[in-house]
Amino acid sequence: VKFVYDFTEGNKDLKDLLGGKGANLAEMTNLGLPVPPGFTITTEACKVYLDSGEEPAALRDEVSAHLEALEKRMGKKLGQADDPLLVSVRSGAKFSMPGMMDTVLNIGLSDKSVQGLAKQAGDERFAWDSYRRLIQMFGKTVLGVEGDLFEDALEAAKQAKKVSVDTELEAADLKKLVTKFKKIVKTEAGRDFPQDPREQMDLAIKAVFDSWNGDRAKLYRRQERIPHDLGTAVNVCSMVFGNLGPDSGTGVAFTRDPASGHQGVYGDYLQNAQGEDVVAGIRNTVVLADLEQIDKKSYDQLMQIMETLENHYKDLCDIEFTIERGRLWMLQTRVGKRTAGAAFRIATQLVDQGLIDEAEALQRVTGAQLAQLMFPRFDEHAKVEQVGRGIAASPGAAVGKAVFDSYTAVKWSRSGEKVILVRRETNPDDLDGMIAAEGILTSRGGKTSHAAVVARGMGKTCVCGAEELEVDTKRRRMTVPGGHVVEEGDLISIDGSSGKVYLGEVPVVPSPVVEYFEGRMHAGADDADELVEAVHRIMAFADRKRRLRVRANADNAEDALRARRFGAQGIGLCRTEHMFLGDRRELVERLILADTETEREESLKELLPLQKQDFVELFEAMDGLPVTVRLLDPPLHEFLPDITELSVRVALAESRQEPHENDLRLLQAVHRLHEQNPMLGLRGVRLGLVIPGLFTMQVRAIAEAVAERKAAKGDPRAEVMIPLVGTVQELEIVREEADRVIAEVEAASGATLKLAIGTMIELPRAALTAAQIAEAAEFFSFGTNDLTQTVWGFSRDDVEASFFTAYLEKGIFGVSPFETIDRDGVGSLVKAAATAGRATRPDLKLGVCGEHGGDPESVHFFHEVGLDYVSCSPFRIPVARLEAGRAAS
Ligand code: PEP
Ligand code: MG
Repeated sequence: VKFVYDFTEGNKDLKDLLGGKGANLAEMTNLGLPVPPGFTITTEACKVYLDSGEEPAALRDEVSAHLEALEKRMGKKLGQADDPLLVSVRSGAKFSMPGMMDTVLNIGLSDKSVQGLAKQAGDERFAWDSYRRLIQMFGKTVLGVEGDLFEDALEAAKQAKKVSVDTELEAADLKKLVTKFKKIVKTEAGRDFPQDPREQMDLAIKAVFDSWNGDRAKLYRRQERIPHDLGTAVNVCSMVFGNLGPDSGTGVAFTRDPASGHQGVYGDYLQNAQGEDVVAGIRNTVVLADLEQIDKKSYDQLMQIMETLENHYKDLCDIEFTIERGRLWMLQTRVGKRTAGAAFRIATQLVDQGLIDEAEALQRVTGAQLAQLMFPRFDEHAKVEQVGRGIAASPGAAVGKAVFDSYTAVKWSRSGEKVILVRRETNPDDLDGMIAAEGILTSRGGKTSHAAVVARGMGKTCVCGAEELEVDTKRRRMTVPGGHVVEEGDLISIDGSSGKVYLGEVPVVPSPVVEYFEGRMHAGADDADELVEAVHRIMAFADRKRRLRVRANADNAEDALRARRFGAQGIGLCRTEHMFLGDRRELVERLILADTETEREESLKELLPLQKQDFVELFEAMDGLPVTVRLLDPPLHEFLPDITELSVRVALAESRQEPHENDLRLLQAVHRLHEQNPMLGLRGVRLGLVIPGLFTMQVRAIAEAVAERKAAKGDPRAEVMIPLVGTVQELEIVREEADRVIAEVEAASGATLKLAIGTMIELPRAALTAAQIAEAAEFFSFGTNDLTQTVWGFSRDDVEASFFTAYLEKGIFGVSPFETIDRDGVGSLVKAAATAGRATRPDLKLGVCGEHGGDPESVHFFHEVGLDYVSCSPFRIPVARLEAGRAAS
């Protein structure tokens, strides 16, 4: 195998091997863009190192050969005393992990070559500044020296000189600083800073490999669901310098606004600075547009390159560049992260520009982004006290208690508090606090600052660079203009779409996207919201592409109507137990307590018209669309009072010698029905078989409701669904009775009802015997909640609060199997049951109505295994439609 690739050898499709940065550097090189020459060490080499603790044997020679070639090309040797070649060593994994891993610049500088560099550049200050940066970065990332020690020394040097920014330090100051830095290294790392350039390079490469398994990187991967075994590539790139004076500088840019999608000039530029200075927010940057005044030639060239990149990648790109004495160099590009709203807008803009087609546009957005756009926003009409405005870095409306460090953010959020993490700026150490917080507020840094980039990636609300806010993390408070002090624990609200910061809790209103789905806002109108317009078009693309139908889980007319507005093509699950609550509870109690058949029949007779009315309303709301009504599922004790409460009541009444006959009977019933394990107890079809007349009453209510809707010239399309079936015999018994009742209602009403009868597949045995079950079922609906519970043996009501956190932390699964379908286990049962069922009954209709029906990844799975529809809660319908379209394109 080959472990090292020159930039001229790779391309953008080799991200697995070369990492994102390496692959894109190669792509830009091949496009003829000005990329400083260099080479990439593959992720394969990293994997060997991580697995065995040693670099692959061949690596050293390969690196030597590539370094030699590079030296020949550049006409100087690495670290050469009179004219040193300097290189950067940068990490670059397949997926971008901003700031999570290590980078070392200026490798090749030593006590000798720093003089050579000074001579060559004709700039002593620059040479010593570069050297002190090398020792600082190398000391911190390679030798593990506490970074603050260098920062403090730099700060002290500035103070001694009474200057405020590092550019005001002169060569002599920097020379002293280098001595100081070397001492720090010696004391802290117990070794001298290496003077041999090759040793510097080799150690830096190893450090980059090691940084893959740093705590920050691991946490980030868990959060972003990036696999832990990918490894990182290492890019060795000849240095170009942005810190050679005012005609040099470094910057970052986007080919369009990552927040709105608008085309234009977006980015930050920092004169006379190197690499990390921009992102770290050390000095204040200028907006990219100002570069036109500073260096028109480079600016024009940059604009042209940005256009080339957009047309080539057919997407928004972000880039890093450096200008060295008026010469532009490209240091990085990648398809840029963007806000959810921008993703929709950019996708439609690119379609309009003819760069991509509809199917590709669907790949440019995700259901998770759509879900994000459906979050509420701050009420414009609310009375607010705005205290600052920063950069709208990542949209959303977040309200919470101000906290000023990551530790408190995590601690408070664990105890159920909503918090806003307020920092001057964030760095990778703040990651777990950012995850815990509702939103992030910083007083420094731009759109490309750490806080902004990471928050956007997480879909978390973020306002950054709110400069009027004086954040004092040591005293855990911030002072807002006018002098008011926000202490730790005070409520604040931040708007990531406008950048505004408010005191107190600002009320929220629905998003325009929801207003659109609700039919209260329209696309196509002159003043239509741009975002709504884009969502409207993308949804149309998805609806045209998708094969899966999307239904709703809804059990009342109101939810059904909303679901319909959101695009539901039927109801996949009407849980009838919800119709047994409220003031009907008493009737249900009487049913459960009935001693005689007459008593039972009485209470069923009273329930019948109520049930029927529920269904009439539901069928009317969903006129013309299928409605799957599931017969009663939960254990009966759920309809009775709590056992402890009732016991106390009975005991009290007893001691006071008050009448309590009813309560006593109730208590006896509660005891009789009490189960250690109700989820595996008397519920679902078992109830129907044990309580005579219960399912019959429900089927009659459905049948009569259908007849009534037909008589009213409606188009009811009801389906009867039997829950928790484990064997075909159960289904056959219920079915026989149901058929009899339906025939009776047909005879009485004179209508043909055409009621399909089917079952849920939510027990492993049902899935395993699906071929038999299909004999008695016209449709299957996979109840993946119970199926997950029973396949894993996880109690669905308990695990998320108990050991799941540990499981997630240990990486046993990256996401709860109750949230995203477990393809290998539960999924394979679904697939096998679907196949077996269809073998018995080719026209068997297949759907899913567990929570997974609205989960993006799971929707793709259900598409792949050939289900006919997914059913989910009304609010997730647009997401399911979109993902079904994405799955099919
Ligand atoms: C299921 O088990 O997946 C299901 C939809 O039924 P319920 O959640 O009501 O048990
Ligand atoms: Mg179930």
